[in-house]
Amino acid sequence: MGAADSLDDAEPAPPADAAVVDRLAVHDWSPRVALLGRQGSGKGTQADRLADLYHVPHISTGEAFRAAVREGSELGRTAQVYMDRGDLVPDDVVVGVLREHLVKEAGLGSGRAGGFILDGFPRNIHQAQALADMLAPEGLDVVVNLDVSTEEVLRRIAGRRVCPNCKSSYNLVNDPPKNDEICDQCGGELVQRDDDTEDAIRRRLQIYESDTAPLISWYTEQGLLATVDASGSQDEVTERAVKAIEAARAR
Ligand code: ADP
Repeated sequence: MGAADSLDDAEPAPPADAAVVDRLAVHDWSPRVALLGRQGSGKGTQADRLADLYHVPHISTGEAFRAAVREGSELGRTAQVYMDRGDLVPDDVVVGVLREHLVKEAGLGSGRAGGFILDGFPRNIHQAQALADMLAPEGLDVVVNLDVSTEEVLRRIAGRRVCPNCKSSYNLVNDPPKNDEICDQCGGELVQRDDDTEDAIRRRLQIYESDTAPLISWYTEQGLLATVDASGSQDEVTERAVKAIEAARAR
């Protein structure tokens, strides 16, 4: 299940997603959501699904950098050095990229308060502060923390595959394509992400613990954090995430 999957045009529509929509009827609100979670917690997949369900843009800083690398732009060349090592791209660069996406895709600064699902931002307190400044005075509606153990994410990352053409993502362990390592959506040959090497993953998980995990208490203090159990099937996790977002709407 991945980027090309949409409830409106996927053919055939994935039955479990449709069931989630029917049960939860979530079409009438555009929430401003940030997802937190270790690498491999399912942030990208869940962000795609939540963006489809709520009809808001999925903004992924990691995907923005990968697109810049593919285009061969200066931003891409800068980002690639950090990504290949598993390091964070410097804050001033990533904050600039995020602001551009929020302006273009969520109408930031236009007076039109749009919703969005942020995936991969913020990753440290400085970025969280920059985001709060950008979104002031409204701020985020909720921060959904996808909680899964390091042991489980290491297992998942080993099976992670992506289609280089349409960007759909799969997992050989729990979300395999129908045909051996071939994209269901476009027939492309699936590959591992360049930065999914063992060393880079270990480095990213370390940085998650040192820089990103402190955001859990930061957002808890602000009353914005909702922790969701991210083990189990993707449908179960989507359902839990939607419930957390709906609880924030009721606040
Ligand atoms: P993962 O969550 O598996 O690390 P992402 O696709 O979210 O994957 O990000 C890939 C890479 O892009 C990161 O390792 C980092 O180098 C860069 N990146 C993405 N988001 C940020 C961010 N908010 N701050 C700094 N670097 C980022």
